[in-house]
Amino acid sequence: MTVRVRFAPSPTGFLHIGSARTALFNYLFAKHNNGKYLLRIEDTDRERSTPEAVEAIFKSLEWLGIKADEEPIFQFSRYQRHAEVAHELLKAGKAYYCYCSPEELQTMREEAAANGKPPRYNGMWRDRDASTAPSGVKPVIRFKSPQDDSLTINDRVQGEVTVKNNQLDDMVLLRADGTPTYMLSVVVDDHDMGITHIIRGDDHLTNAFRQHHIYKALAWDVPEFAHIPLIHGADGAKLSKRHGATSADVYKDLGYLAEAMKNYLLRLGWGHGDDEIISESQAIEWFTLESIGRSPARFDMVKLNNLNGHYIRQSDNQRLLELSLPIIEEMLKKTLSLHEKNSILKGMNGLKERAKTLLELADSALIYIRTFSHDEKSQALLTPENIDLLKKLVKKLSITEFSENTLEDCLRNFAEVEQTKLGQVAAPLRVAITGRTVSPSLFEVMAILGKEESLSRIERVVV
Ligand code: GLU
Repeated sequence: MTVRVRFAPSPTGFLHIGSARTALFNYLFAKHNNGKYLLRIEDTDRERSTPEAVEAIFKSLEWLGIKADEEPIFQFSRYQRHAEVAHELLKAGKAYYCYCSPEELQTMREEAAANGKPPRYNGMWRDRDASTAPSGVKPVIRFKSPQDDSLTINDRVQGEVTVKNNQLDDMVLLRADGTPTYMLSVVVDDHDMGITHIIRGDDHLTNAFRQHHIYKALAWDVPEFAHIPLIHGADGAKLSKRHGATSADVYKDLGYLAEAMKNYLLRLGWGHGDDEIISESQAIEWFTLESIGRSPARFDMVKLNNLNGHYIRQSDNQRLLELSLPIIEEMLKKTLSLHEKNSILKGMNGLKERAKTLLELADSALIYIRTFSHDEKSQALLTPENIDLLKKLVKKLSITEFSENTLEDCLRNFAEVEQTKLGQVAAPLRVAITGRTVSPSLFEVMAILGKEESLSRIERVVV
């Protein structure tokens, strides 16, 4: 059997990071089993589905490199097929027309509520003769859901879960206007797409029981189910906006690398021993449904930042320049010259050591561009004594060759002569050169900037 899985988002908004993780798990499971990973856009809710949301989903998945093996399927385009299956069930006596009026349904709901029961349809048209149907009422088609016994699903993540069949009422398959419901469309599409495993959020676990009965009524093979626990925030509550960004796309804009995000999402609820850094090829090799945890994972920004920092340090300098350039240019509202780009590229080894995000990287790269300003903390270091020190230092530096080693020698020497510590000289010098109290190695920065630029930066603060 060839494994075929699908990710089936509803395009009603951005791609939630929980959904991005579902997509990733499906993708890795398919690759691990030499199977196929497919994408189905569940756009049957015509009021809430938007082309912008479809675009956002495509964009986020593309950013994460989660590529479908076949063209995406748009669920709404298949509604006639879904309706056809509803009629098939009707013909086979596995579904029936229901002519209930909205008022009757309302009464049923109220009665259930009065008895402290969940709202459910009471099956009033299940065995009724259609000849008694009220005239002028367009019926819905309801599924004749088995009411005896119980159903046990052996979920690949949740284990054995049993539900009594009489808990499930006769759901609507086809609405009065002829449009299919989610429950029917999902089953028909999964069957027609040859889906072998359904991996999705555990908010769909109860749907699996209803869907199972539809498969059986159609004498179709029931796929395996794997319902993944949802993601929670650090405080244990379901992940929501108040925990930070929940849209996968926003993480791109916040300067996270796709591979870091993917590694992080993978570790949310799935593990391989104590491994934290896991490459895509390792993930494919190791991924099994059995190693998905049963309890909700907690979203931890600190871990994500550390992983991102790791992947930034591992990244090729040219790639980092390309990724941070648009951010820098947006910050400065100007296009960088070739010389400026080259300076940043030369300084990249030092810059990437500290950055946890591309935004931080871009910000620290500004030291190589002239247009910086001194912040309050650094301004405080420019005391009259320190300025005197820098004035003396300028003379020394003007006759020094600007390489990292000679600059270091020069500074050490200078500190010795002045009977002070290297740090005492380096601190105001760093402020003069970079405008900041923290930067990559000062000697590296000065060597990259060159003598003329470095001296002019010092002169700017000593005059
Ligand atoms: N479209 C559903 C959702 O976005 C998923 C349905 C499924 O995976 O079966 O939650």
